[in-house]
Amino acid sequence: MSGQEQRFVEDVFNSNWIAPLGPHVDAFEREIAQYAGVKGAVALSSGTAAIHLALRYLGVGMGDMVFCSSLTFAASANPILYLGAKPVFIDSEPETWNMSSLALERAFVEGESKGYIPKAVIIINLYGQSADMFSLLEICNRYNVPVIEDAAESLGATYKGRPSGTFGKFGIYSFNGNKIITTSGGGMLISDDLEALEKVCFWATQARDPARHYQHSEFGYNYRLSNVLAAIGRGQMLVLEERVKARRSVYNRYFEELAYIDGIEFMPEAPFGRSTHWLTALTVDPERCGVTALKIMNALGNSNIESRPVWKPLHLQPLFSNCEYYSHEQGESVSERLFQTGICLPSGSNLSKQDQYCVINCINNCLNKLL
Ligand SMILES: *Cc1c(COP(=O)(O)O)cnc(C)c1O
Repeated sequence: MSGQEQRFVEDVFNSNWIAPLGPHVDAFEREIAQYAGVKGAVALSSGTAAIHLALRYLGVGMGDMVFCSSLTFAASANPILYLGAKPVFIDSEPETWNMSSLALERAFVEGESKGYIPKAVIIINLYGQSADMFSLLEICNRYNVPVIEDAAESLGATYKGRPSGTFGKFGIYSFNGNKIITTSGGGMLISDDLEALEKVCFWATQARDPARHYQHSEFGYNYRLSNVLAAIGRGQMLVLEERVKARRSVYNRYFEELAYIDGIEFMPEAPFGRSTHWLTALTVDPERCGVTALKIMNALGNSNIESRPVWKPLHLQPLFSNCEYYSHEQGESVSERLFQTGICLPSGSNLSKQDQYCVINCINNCLNKLL
């Protein structure tokens, strides 16, 4: 928290407007839509809920296929299962670690030859960096398949000068506790299609037909963000740019101190936009470094420093073991290599310079076999 949230939350308490909906929800939606430069936004209880409702709006149902990035958090793909549809996972490209247009193209061609085209494509923006949206959209547009941009990790980033999350039919943001700004939990669905957003909002509030008595012709969900949490979100939006700067300077310091080491490669920042570097991630080549990524993570852990592997690709998850997967090139799975060799370093916006040097020294010691 920045301190500015408290002013908004105080207003909630002073007005006693605790009931789920309220003026801060409307204002938060307006502010996000304005920030992103889109026509509208619907505040929801999570980013996962936003993906779920976007997929339902696109008519995804039992037995349908949905293409989805493989190198991501399970929340990107779980809503496909909620609707009884089937994910097909698409590999990353080495340049951005995001969805590979080569793999996407092959998935479309082979899908078509098997007699299906997907109902939707979920493109995720990894660790604060946009995917190469124009080349991916070109393929999806050719097949007339709508895109949901999972920008849960890339709020604050840009692609070709435009805010990340605004390139598909729908974009989603998350305000979960670990994201660049947070409402403790929450999400947002954005779009230029106001009719679609109205329908989604209807489903998110238990699908109540316009009648004084409670009447329902469709099933809905309890998926709206509360007025209290929206108030926190409004305070957080005031510091988004500050948070991006902080994450980028954390990345820059790691880069200055570690990038020269033979065998260490940072997640590349593509020239097409600005990454927030929500997380700083790098890969460790065990041949050239003399140690594995796992060894470094263990050394960090021994110094009480938390680090994580890069996401385990979804096509390798037991839950999705029977799903199709298209690798970047035949015989070259980029996401698997990133999972085997990748580390996400402590990247919080409030990480002190001193703490960051503890991380850097620990890695250096491990590489020099002092630990
Ligand atoms: C966090 C995250 C989500 C889910 O957001 P919630 O608000 O936690 O439901 C979805 N996709 C990605 C890529 C995420 O990192």
